[in-house]
Amino acid sequence: MNATVEAEHFAVFGHPIAHSLSPRIHARFAAFTGIRLHYTAIDAPAASFATQLEDFAAAGGRGANVTLPLKQDACALSAALSDFARRAGAVNTLTRLPDGRWLGDNTDGPGFVRDLTERHALDLRGRRSLLLGAGGAARATAFALLDAGVGELIIVNRTAERADALADAIGDPEHVYTRYWDDLGAAGNFDLIVNATSAGLGAAQLALPFGLVARRTLCYDLSYGAAAFAFLAWARAAGAGPALDGLGMLVEQAAESFAIWHGSRPDTDAVYNELRAELPLRATD
Ligand code: NDP
Repeated sequence: MNATVEAEHFAVFGHPIAHSLSPRIHARFAAFTGIRLHYTAIDAPAASFATQLEDFAAAGGRGANVTLPLKQDACALSAALSDFARRAGAVNTLTRLPDGRWLGDNTDGPGFVRDLTERHALDLRGRRSLLLGAGGAARATAFALLDAGVGELIIVNRTAERADALADAIGDPEHVYTRYWDDLGAAGNFDLIVNATSAGLGAAQLALPFGLVARRTLCYDLSYGAAAFAFLAWARAAGAGPALDGLGMLVEQAAESFAIWHGSRPDTDAVYNELRAELPLRATD
């Protein structure tokens, strides 16, 4: 006789969270793999996150994703960290250990690289790279790019001190250093430009000289949907090579989390294609 397998509980915490695609992505992965699970979105302001996470654990929650603005809090609440999460200083995946405490991981960086190298079959090795931003996602991206073997990595951020802090944390001054945003005109051109700022969520346009771009330059915005349109339009106008948004990264980081919790990595193409049909790369597509 088959015993009924209880569906395990997972959630994504963030604030705001209503528009998160994670519940939908994990539900699709569960359907593909035949794994029974409940995955919900929990609105958690920073002030009450720790309590809400405790309540979730007490109610049987087995794993959680964490998004803005809670990734550093999740790092602090983790009893143990994966090597990548420790380096990035941010956690987006929590797994409940047998003793009830949380193991913190970060799948943003691996998800970003996997989108580029697997879905888009791009080789990152040796690329002269420019990283715009120094927030949580930029930190994960920087370490993932270095793990993937990029060449020189220049970090630029609106608040210069945060870029310096990230370069210091990496500690490879020969290959990884910062520039002031106003000096970008003298930086030459790049093989890879990654926009890890959240500027596209607001009305502000990033001031970026066309001279950063050559015909081969790969431009990637971690945002997706309308938030990525301005940067990708700039990249195309500057004559860049591929201009990609972060939708693939979103799906891949979710698949990495799924693999941590369930021990098997789902195929991501079907979910990516479904979401891509709803979130085109250009306003006019
Ligand atoms: P943070 O709030 O930690 O960092 C925001 C970054 O953007 C900071 O470097 C900030 O600079 C910069 N910034 C904000 N507004 C402007 C502006 N008007 N001009 C220039 N710089 C600006 O956010 P995250 O790092 O978590 O997220 C960054 C982006 O990445 C978001 O759009 C998010 O949606 C996306 N993301 C996508 C993921 C995916 O799976 N596709 C996963 C994670 C994030 P300063 O330090 O000066 O404030």
